[in-house]
Amino acid sequence: MYSLRYFSNLFGIEQGNPGLYRSQYQSMAKQSLLLYTLAIITTISVAFINLEQAPIFLTIKLPAALLLADLAFFFWFARVPKKYKGDAYDRQALLRLHAAVWGAVLLGISHSIWALAMFEYSALAMRGLVTAFLSASTLGVAMCMMNLRSAALTIVISMFGPIVVYFMYLGDSSYRVSAINLTMVATVFALVLNRYSQDFVRMIKQQQIVEAKIAEVENLSKSNLALANEDSLTKLSNRRSFLFNLNKLVDEVAQSHSCGLAVGVLDLDGFKQVNDVYGHQVGDQVLVEVGLRLKNIEKDGVKIARLGGDEFGILMEGSLSEEELLEFGTSITDAMRVPFMVDDLIIHLGGTVGFARWGSVDDTGQKIFEKADYALYHAKDNARGNVIVFGKYHAETLRAVSNIDRKMQDADFDIEMSLVFQPIVSLSNSGTVGFEVLARWQSPSLGFVSPDVFIRSAERGGAINRLTATLLGKALIEAKTWPDHLYMSFNLSMHDITSARAILNLISIIEKSGFDPKRITFEVTETAIMSDRKLAKKSLCLLKHLGVKIALDDFGTGHSSLSYVRSLPLDKIKLDRSFINDIEHEEDAGSIVDVMVEMCRSLRVDCIVEGVETQGQVGVLTAMGCEFIQGYYFSKPLNSAATQKYLRAEFGENFTEVAISA
Ligand code: C2E
Ligand code: CA
Ligand code: CA
Repeated sequence: MYSLRYFSNLFGIEQGNPGLYRSQYQSMAKQSLLLYTLAIITTISVAFINLEQAPIFLTIKLPAALLLADLAFFFWFARVPKKYKGDAYDRQALLRLHAAVWGAVLLGISHSIWALAMFEYSALAMRGLVTAFLSASTLGVAMCMMNLRSAALTIVISMFGPIVVYFMYLGDSSYRVSAINLTMVATVFALVLNRYSQDFVRMIKQQQIVEAKIAEVENLSKSNLALANEDSLTKLSNRRSFLFNLNKLVDEVAQSHSCGLAVGVLDLDGFKQVNDVYGHQVGDQVLVEVGLRLKNIEKDGVKIARLGGDEFGILMEGSLSEEELLEFGTSITDAMRVPFMVDDLIIHLGGTVGFARWGSVDDTGQKIFEKADYALYHAKDNARGNVIVFGKYHAETLRAVSNIDRKMQDADFDIEMSLVFQPIVSLSNSGTVGFEVLARWQSPSLGFVSPDVFIRSAERGGAINRLTATLLGKALIEAKTWPDHLYMSFNLSMHDITSARAILNLISIIEKSGFDPKRITFEVTETAIMSDRKLAKKSLCLLKHLGVKIALDDFGTGHSSLSYVRSLPLDKIKLDRSFINDIEHEEDAGSIVDVMVEMCRSLRVDCIVEGVETQGQVGVLTAMGCEFIQGYYFSKPLNSAATQKYLRAEFGENFTEVAISA
């Protein structure tokens, strides 16, 4: 059984490995011209040697027929027609290899029988010459077939076989010795041939392993590259890929000057609340759906990527007009407004988009992106849910803002920053109960900068924690001079309450000052809390632990739900002044304030109404049962000296001594 398998291995072709037989065929095809030249020369030579003795049938006709057969086989074997590709090519190669083995049998036997047929007519010396010719060329032909063991062995056996049999048959001892000698030569040759062809097969297989490894590495690096450039959640391109494509396109546009590009930034409106209220899993599903909608909107020349969180980047090729950008941006904001269905929840979101276009060769990818981001930031403030394209107006304000940002970075807070104090008054006894501390910046080069502007600038530039600490230190010194029953209300930024380190620093400043923490109220806005609810809540609890009070500032301008407000450790709520403006003349405005005041009462928190400017407003609020009021009606924010004067007017000349001795 084993020997049968060994035998079939020896003379068979390994069919399961197309790469191997393809290589075997190609290497044989390359040698085939050499092989047939050798066969032709040998046939002609043998015919020529016997030309005079043997009949014409054996010296001309039969060799001519054999040569024609050889030639026909050669032309067929040497080339697989171009129409065969891939698997079809492989099948043709395998067919030719099988044919080579059978060809070796037929042509080998026919050539050797033909040569032996002429022995009858030739002298002994001629017979020796023919045998030598045949042997030498058989070895040569077999060498040309070395890469296909079965064919090489077949040609050796089918050429030498008949000769050896014939010599043994002749019975003469010299013929028998020759037969034994030929057999030994053929055997040694077959052994060498076997080893060589095995080496060839091994080499090809080794090569295949190396090629497979290379392909595997290439595939791996391709998929790594795809992963490195893809956002795993939405399957859109990620920030890295977006910035890479942006910079590449900017370079191309700068070089060609022919067409432009535009960058858009989309920010989802209301997404943070979805995350907070329903959890990250629902948030993730919404983002996946957003990704699908954006993919549907993508078209030729437009690439959309997820930049992170709920922010997406849009890269558009070509010189696009403002109208075209607005139209495309609107298709995105429209798509974001369609309600999202997650499990059995229906979620309403929106999207705001800022666009900027490539303008000149000075525009880097970073610059265009910053402009788009600035347009978005503007849209968020002034046109939430809409599209804004960065224009001249934005360029001017951006220049001014960058200037302020630079000056803010270099500012000496101790010298340039000062404080003003605005009284908070109780309506029931018309007495001051505390002061809100408000910051003022007098920049040596810019002059007076509004707090709305410079607080944002400090937040952007990362200077806000340092600024808050400086302001709190200054405020505590001032507040120490006030009567003991007055409290100090101090504004915290979003970046203060979302940084544990900043909160601990503020606590240490309070402790070192010796000021009673119970007399401090920290004002925080809804948006600040909503930016990171968990962290904000932790900070508020830390502060509460110290004994300070917490007020929710600008209430009504954010999006927090009543149930969420209830879960916060709040002591006071400050109603935003936008609700007060029309309170005297519009019933609706009045009833909104009424509801809010009522809500504070049911939550058992103090309600402070901000921005009260007129006697009429005070009258309406008194009728509603409002207790605490802050606004120009009582006093504008006062500097330190004016505050002292205000206090003296209300509490008498010696209030400071009372405060200090206490
Ligand atoms: P805010 O916390 O809502 O402060 C109240 C703002 O309303 C103050 O503006 C105040 O001057 C103004 N205001 C008070 N009463 C009236 C009124 O009757 N009518 C009108 N029209 N306005 C009134 P200001 O001082 O310009 O501050 C603006 C904002 O800047 C503040 O709003 C607050 O968000 C921020 N800010 C001011 N100082 C600081 C600070 O020290 N730290 C932080 N983080 N933010 C501050
Ligand atoms: Ca405030
Ligand atoms: Ca406020």
